[in-house]
Amino acid sequence: MQNRTMIEPFRIKSVEPIKVTTREERVKYLEAAKLNVFLLKAEDVLLDWLTDSGTGAMSSAQWAAVMLGDESYAGAKSYYKLKETLADITGMEHFIPTHQGRAAEKVLFGAVCKNGDLIPNNCHFDTTRANLEFLEVEAVDLVIPEGLQPDAIHPFKGNIDLGRVEDLLKNNGDRIPFGMLTITNNTGGGQPVSMANIREYSQLLKKYGKPLIMDVCRFSENAMFIKMREPGYENKTIREICREMFGYADGATMSAKKDALVNIGGFIVLRNDQWLDKVREMLILFEGFLTYGGMAGRDMEAMAVGLEEGMDEDYLRYRLRTAEYLGEKLETMGIGFVKPTGGHAVYIDAKSVLPNMPIEQYPAWALSCALYIEGGIRGVEIGSVMFGKRLTDGTETYHSMELVRLAFPRRMYTQSHFDFAAEAIGEVKASADKIRGVRITRQAKFLRHFTAEFEWV
Ligand SMILES: *Cc1c(COP(=O)(O)O)cnc(C)c1O
Repeated sequence: MQNRTMIEPFRIKSVEPIKVTTREERVKYLEAAKLNVFLLKAEDVLLDWLTDSGTGAMSSAQWAAVMLGDESYAGAKSYYKLKETLADITGMEHFIPTHQGRAAEKVLFGAVCKNGDLIPNNCHFDTTRANLEFLEVEAVDLVIPEGLQPDAIHPFKGNIDLGRVEDLLKNNGDRIPFGMLTITNNTGGGQPVSMANIREYSQLLKKYGKPLIMDVCRFSENAMFIKMREPGYENKTIREICREMFGYADGATMSAKKDALVNIGGFIVLRNDQWLDKVREMLILFEGFLTYGGMAGRDMEAMAVGLEEGMDEDYLRYRLRTAEYLGEKLETMGIGFVKPTGGHAVYIDAKSVLPNMPIEQYPAWALSCALYIEGGIRGVEIGSVMFGKRLTDGTETYHSMELVRLAFPRRMYTQSHFDFAAEAIGEVKASADKIRGVRITRQAKFLRHFTAEFEWV
């Protein structure tokens, strides 16, 4: 069995046709979108790998659960069902429903943090950082050094650097209301955090009297990596591993658009009631009543089923294999990427495809355009357009890496889609000398990548 093809562990009951386009049409669409794939119409994209957030396919069991949604304003059955599911997985008593991950962050941080505070994390996801900075709280990233090196092989590149955490606790302890940990580490490439690191981090925080709040968007993918890579966990079930992970935390926020396999939803869970009154006040003010927050009853039903399906071992094995499979194909073609592949995405190193393109021509952006033109593939640039800046004197700052992220919606694309993508990426590399760089013609002051306009150099 070991060497056989790993199949998608599902069959298809309902299909969504994708429109096949020609290269000429795609050139026209991309030029109309000012060479920015964010401005394309989704229907003109063949393989939409812009994000894994809320883009996955729900199962027949989830769609059936949608019909069970109790839309009562207060005390809905669907709320109690989801609360019970979460209590079983996390061991936490309090469940606060929100419409997505960033709403959970806003509600929790708004209740607990104050201006001048500081929060350590392996890496803060962008909405987490933005919600903290909005409150004038300092967001400090303390991932281990390997987590910042694309080529460094390490089984748990998402681990937090405990030495630096302890320094911070010693010197700035009075500013820290709690510690955070993001599993898997999205910003660092979907890299997992080991159980040992979670345990030691939690003990360290406890020593200084600080709670641990985990950002658990991809907790099941993280649990599967622990099972596959951490000695002592190979014979444990995913549920057992999840229970142990959550057992070290005092609370968690989650975007259910990831491992809960739904298109919208999120939550906070808390172990004790220390912050509960303030969190509930914020929830009612910004999201909704205690028993629906930002969700419809049917959303909570679908999530209760999705959380369970997301912990299925055959599904997770296939899920992690997907990224690894594309990585292997890139490796044979001499294309660089962040190694080892993480849970939800592959990050192509644009410099390995376009070694001679000057940074001022935004090689990763140029590669994202080429992937769309040649293969109809939509990925996202993580490079100098996203993280660089135009300064007031007209000069530019650039990012240290030029990556294109291909993030995979859950249960959506089959192996032939990935084979096709690998072929298209190989063709892009073979004709790399014809790929043109880009220049920015229009840009916003913040988060410019979403709306910037470009022309070919
Ligand atoms: C997606 C994500 C969030 C934010 O969730 P939204 O549902 O997009 O608001 C927070 N943290 C991590 C790690 C994420 O991946």
